[in-house]
Amino acid sequence: MRGAGQQLTRDEVDWRQLPASSVTQATRVPGIQNQRCNRCLAVMTRANRLPSGAWYCQECLTLGRVTDHTELFRFPKRTERIGDGQLTWQGDLTADQARVSQELIATFDERRDRLLWAVTGAGKTEMLFPLLAHALAKQAQIAIVSPRVDVILELAPRLQQAFVNTPIAILYGGQHEVIESSLVLATTHQLLRFYHAFDLVIVDEVDAFPYATVPMLDRAVHQASVGPIIYLTATPSNAMLRAVQHQKLAVSYLARRFHQFPLPKPQVKLISTGLPTRAHYKMIEKC
Ligand SMILES: [Zn+2]
Repeated sequence: MRGAGQQLTRDEVDWRQLPASSVTQATRVPGIQNQRCNRCLAVMTRANRLPSGAWYCQECLTLGRVTDHTELFRFPKRTERIGDGQLTWQGDLTADQARVSQELIATFDERRDRLLWAVTGAGKTEMLFPLLAHALAKQAQIAIVSPRVDVILELAPRLQQAFVNTPIAILYGGQHEVIESSLVLATTHQLLRFYHAFDLVIVDEVDAFPYATVPMLDRAVHQASVGPIIYLTATPSNAMLRAVQHQKLAVSYLARRFHQFPLPKPQVKLISTGLPTRAHYKMIEKC
């Protein structure tokens, strides 16, 4: 069904494309209810009051205004797979990559959130391929999201080449028409247009702006998901590391790049520059 798993305002629904039956299946909720936005879960304050007395949400305004007069249509999630879900990528994983890949599959089966902490160049995307094939084989609906649109645009052709016979919906500002797909590649903002839609959400570059500083985006990820969430980063936040420490978040760690050499440790050497001032020392990073 077109629109499956989506949460849309009346204006955003493509009424020409939707069969009447799917409209009747949609749950309708007010945009703002009990002083909380139903699209982004922001709590309303006096600043959210219009002169007319109506409430409107400022936090998710970039996706269009939601007020207490707005009606949100929440369409039931898709349960069948679109496309064959077969992995057509022919490459090989290194032993470390294969270990991490198996850990990701286990985390999906156990429905547990996981942090994939891997250095830049570790081959994170390739490590995801077996997980995606495994989840698609189980009819899972999957979203891969990033706060950065350039990451989405770079990932799109690689993902499509790896799953040639599986349609992929690519969504970002200005491009948010959802084709029928079990694999959605989107900016995190676009998840505000989904509700309980995905059995697996993968958040790439979770440390990147604005995800790290805009709590709405984390709420969007959780609201769009009914399954585990996998976070990918080379530089996890302290909050994430604390969650790992308290065993609220499983972790896979990969310090090697795909060429198998471990990341060099920077060495700090103090040397005299011969200057008679405070600029006596110079740090040399050996990378
Ligand atoms: Zn909102």
